[in-house]
Amino acid sequence: MTSAPLVPGPVTARVPAKVNLELLVGPLRPDGYHALSTVYQAVSLYDDVTVAEDEQWGVSVSGALAGGVPTGEDNLALRAARLAAERFDGTPVHVSIRKGIPVAGGMAGGSADAAATLVALDQLWNLGLDREELETAAAELGSDVPFLVAGGTAMGSGRGELLAPVLARGTYHWVLALAEGGLSTPAVYAECDRLRHGVPVPEPVATPALMAALRTGDPHELAPQLVNDLQDAAVSLRPDLGDVLSSGMEYGALGGVVSGSGPTVAFLVENNEAGIDLAVALTASGVVRDVRRASGPVHGAHVIHQRVD
Ligand code: ATP
Repeated sequence: MTSAPLVPGPVTARVPAKVNLELLVGPLRPDGYHALSTVYQAVSLYDDVTVAEDEQWGVSVSGALAGGVPTGEDNLALRAARLAAERFDGTPVHVSIRKGIPVAGGMAGGSADAAATLVALDQLWNLGLDREELETAAAELGSDVPFLVAGGTAMGSGRGELLAPVLARGTYHWVLALAEGGLSTPAVYAECDRLRHGVPVPEPVATPALMAALRTGDPHELAPQLVNDLQDAAVSLRPDLGDVLSSGMEYGALGGVVSGSGPTVAFLVENNEAGIDLAVALTASGVVRDVRRASGPVHGAHVIHQRVD
């Protein structure tokens, strides 16, 4: 008796958001990008991305945060799937995204979905990619994508895509203040260039004091090292973020920083209980649209479910 060939069922990968503990922005390069030095941490806000074989390419998005995510060819997960198909000779898939990462919030949600798509397709198409091959393919999809495959805490240089591991001890607790609406990443960089016009900008180099703080595992050591060269630009475009930053500090955060290009503000707190207190205080204050609590570092994109029909 012959049995029917196994059809690979849908594969779901879970992917975290990121915060930038340090984001140093160098001069504008001739290619239009800025040289960056950043230290990323993956935190426990997740998107789940499911890929399933289909007759045609498609994408759908669900979850309370799904608003504002394109459901056509502009979707970064669908773009990732199409690029992966060209590279690895794959056939059409439908990509379903369950959003738990704020959209256009500076937490790299779109890049996260691209990373999860790649990791899920690796399994669906049985590619057997090793870590290096995954990260190379990820770098073609966007600067933050290799980090979202890797997870943990890592240093990024170049445009952020050249990763080096960072020794970080302990678990850090974060309260993320979500703002109404998003901020466009190119607009924030343009504002940063405008604010720094005529000021000499050094090549960005990771700060040794931040690395030392991460080795202690002590949030009190890390808090004063949080820095983001895009923060002034984000606050210039969204002055309400200044109020969010000062409110968080007033209500007991150890440190606060705009995440990436904003407008999400990441507050570092001492422990889980302090996180609950700060989340309640920020919500009651009315200065933020919504808050989320998260901890990090956590793993990068990983398969959580695979069905074989
Ligand atoms: P970054 O931190 O990488 O600058 P971000 O967190 O500020 O990014 P994203 O959530 O990645 O922003 O979204 C940026 C824009 O990308 C959104 O406004 C949205 O239109 C578009 N986009 C395309 N695909 C996706 C996706 N799968 N998820 C979220 N946004 C997407």
